[in-house]
Amino acid sequence: MDRRLFLETSTVVAGSAVLGRASPGPRRPDPPMIGIQVGAVSFVDEGTDKVLDGFQEMAAINTLFLATFTYGRGIGGRQLRGQPLPDHGKQEYDDSFRGGNFATPHPQYYRHTSIAPEKAPDHPSYDVIADVLPAAHRRGMRVICWFEDVFRRDVPGFDQAAEIDLHGKPTGLTCHRNPNARNFWLGLAEDYLRSYDVDGLMWGSERQGPLDNALGSSHGSSSAGGVIACFCSHCLDAARKEEINIARARDGYLALERWAAALRAGQRPADGAFVTFWRLLVKYPELLAWERLWNEGLSDTYRALYGLAQGIDPAKGIGWHIWHNNSFSPFYRAEQDYAEFGKYSDFLKVVMYNNCGGPRLAQYVRNTHGTVFADLTPDQTLDFVYGVQQYREQSLARIAETGLSADYVLRETQRAVAGAGPHLKIWPGIDIDIPTGAGEKKTQPDDVHQAVRAAFQGGAHGVLLSRKYSEMRLANLRAAGRAVREVKPA
Ligand SMILES: [Zn+2]
Repeated sequence: MDRRLFLETSTVVAGSAVLGRASPGPRRPDPPMIGIQVGAVSFVDEGTDKVLDGFQEMAAINTLFLATFTYGRGIGGRQLRGQPLPDHGKQEYDDSFRGGNFATPHPQYYRHTSIAPEKAPDHPSYDVIADVLPAAHRRGMRVICWFEDVFRRDVPGFDQAAEIDLHGKPTGLTCHRNPNARNFWLGLAEDYLRSYDVDGLMWGSERQGPLDNALGSSHGSSSAGGVIACFCSHCLDAARKEEINIARARDGYLALERWAAALRAGQRPADGAFVTFWRLLVKYPELLAWERLWNEGLSDTYRALYGLAQGIDPAKGIGWHIWHNNSFSPFYRAEQDYAEFGKYSDFLKVVMYNNCGGPRLAQYVRNTHGTVFADLTPDQTLDFVYGVQQYREQSLARIAETGLSADYVLRETQRAVAGAGPHLKIWPGIDIDIPTGAGEKKTQPDDVHQAVRAAFQGGAHGVLLSRKYSEMRLANLRAAGRAVREVKPA
């Protein structure tokens, strides 16, 4: 396929093929999905036609991932204060951002959840799907609703959907097994699919189970580790059904919590951190059983959403944003089985943010060096990560400043494509200007150009420019376009 033809196909025929389950007629190669994540504020600030024309001209975008629901700043609102505003959009910070549903919630879909379907008050009279969808379809662009598992505790009814931690306290996160949470996601998905002629859905949940959280095995900034949950009545019922000993699970997690706190306080057991961790696992296999229980709650949510989308319109795709922790933590990675995902997904956006990946990997090393890898030096911890995660980058002293290379994107893409099998589309998430700290890696045009090329070289079925247009600089977006135009799809 030559370049001109590819560009035409990528915007005009993008139609049925981008999300493509089986379509009638002769089989043709699918055009690659060239997507971008964009929130309501960009259309409000800059004008819908201007934004969409710019996407097509600058980066040959054929698919929009509209941030339709979140209470978080990762995909909603403008640039964060403390970070430079990009060279487009309103030159003002939006510190009063709240979030919610950026379309229009239709109450009939939320009868079976306690969680209030709040319309985001940030743009009270604006419905991002109603506005953008016709303008996108006129241009041959597809529209996917992109919603994520990020709430605020003060959302009415959230308290009846919250995870309960090891000590019986409600957390700021939903329990994946709680019907109020499950039915909220199902209601939201059904609302988007039935109320609007959208082309698909993507949901993301950047969370992990109690075992991984107890180890602090993530790139999150909290040095105290994450939430050990869930011990709500729904999860206790599920444990009884699975014949997991609840009292022993609690005892195990209390012991693990004490173990992690002691290590973080600088204590070193005579047998070392790793051996004493493994000793707890052997003594309390319920630790792993509870981790599995947590993951099953999440998988059931994926399965339920997939079943719902299939029931409404099997031609529309649904897939998932896979958290960046997948690149750093072997514990989390083990729980993201691409072949298993193939049973209840049309596509995966696997996060492969190589620029902010450097600082994030360095933080991951600091976090786990504080617990399970305390026997090693930080450099050895990083070496272990490179070994088991199957990519190799620069030393710990350098990665925060240099970021990760395009080779990391290539390897992660190849691994995902090989693991996913023939029917599951892999769309690597490429980072453009995701905020990092002072002195840490900032995205440059060459980085984006090389990362996009690496994704296609690795066999990707598309790329998804992330995390939100409102923080991207245009030169970096254009660099993605340059790479897309150079790549000839297989
Ligand atoms: Zn629960």
